Amino acid sequence: MIVFDLLCASSHRFEGWFGSAADFAAQRERGLLTCPTCGSSKVHRVPSATRANLGAEPPKVPAKPNQPVKTPDMEGKDPFAIAQMLYSRMLDELLTKTEDVGKDFPAEARKIFYKESPNRAIRGQATEQEHDELVDEGIPVARFPVPPKDSLN
Ligand SMILES: [Zn+2]
Repeated sequence: MIVFDLLCASSHRFEGWFGSAADFAAQRERGLLTCPTCGSSKVHRVPSATRANLGAEPPKVPAKPNQPVKTPDMEGKDPFAIAQMLYSRMLDELLTKTEDVGKDFPAEARKIFYKESPNRAIRGQATEQEHDELVDEGIPVARFPVPPKDSLN
């Protein structure tokens, strides 16, 4: 297929799809080509814009596959061990830098958000529904699976 940019006698520009340049010429000669805007059959091809439709070509993908980011102390370790190491570091961080408010978490998170309690990082338990309510109120909370204490040792 070839796409031609066409122009009618009243300067309406439109596109026409043809099997070939000869197909375009034949259709034009027989007055089959008409402007979709005004119906004029005085149509001519705009010479500058011709492009061939070569069909769908797959987009060019960069040759390099995505390489996971590695740090030196992870080199040569198995991915599962690395994941566990990162998780336990994150957990340490979380447990040392937050105050455990236990089941008061939803109430306390709300108080901090509305500045009724001193601003600090807290952790605790919230049910699915409590969590959703906090999120609905626009209170920034994150779910974090903390295993029971005895499984940490
Ligand atoms: Zn026209």
